[in-house]
Amino acid sequence: MKIGCGYDVHRFAEGDHIVLGGVTIAHSNGLAAHSDGDVLIHAICDALLGAVALGDIGQHFPDTDSRFLGADSRDLLRRVRSLVARTGYRLGNLDSVIIAQAPKVAPHVEAMRGNIASDLCCGPDRVSVKATTTENLGFEGRGEGIAVHAVCVLERIPTEG
Ligand SMILES: [Zn+2]
Repeated sequence: MKIGCGYDVHRFAEGDHIVLGGVTIAHSNGLAAHSDGDVLIHAICDALLGAVALGDIGQHFPDTDSRFLGADSRDLLRRVRSLVARTGYRLGNLDSVIIAQAPKVAPHVEAMRGNIASDLCCGPDRVSVKATTTENLGFEGRGEGIAVHAVCVLERIPTEG
């Protein structure tokens, strides 16, 4: 098996919603990004790519490339899944933690797990999403942005026969 970790941060900017795990959540700000700013999916992509030593999301989908302007991060996640599959591995399980003072993300966690599991062609029992605040400490606590940590284990895809 292989293990990978990912970390991503996006700062808040003008806007009225954020996208986390493919779920649109109304908020008093948006997240600054070249793509849809889905900081959860970006951290998960980096964990998956890291596990097979394929670099990071910025190398595969550079923010200098206009093809990825406003990109649907779930599409990037599906592309990462195929890159990983080409190396002979698939998701064993992943765990993640969203660090945000606001908005409240807990009510959306099940929908996020469903989206991510669907994009990774696995059951939601393999995908864990958790959320925490920082008791108002640090940049997340001051409401300046959202950070996500993700770790994953990959298992070898069984060969026929
Ligand atoms: Zn990102």
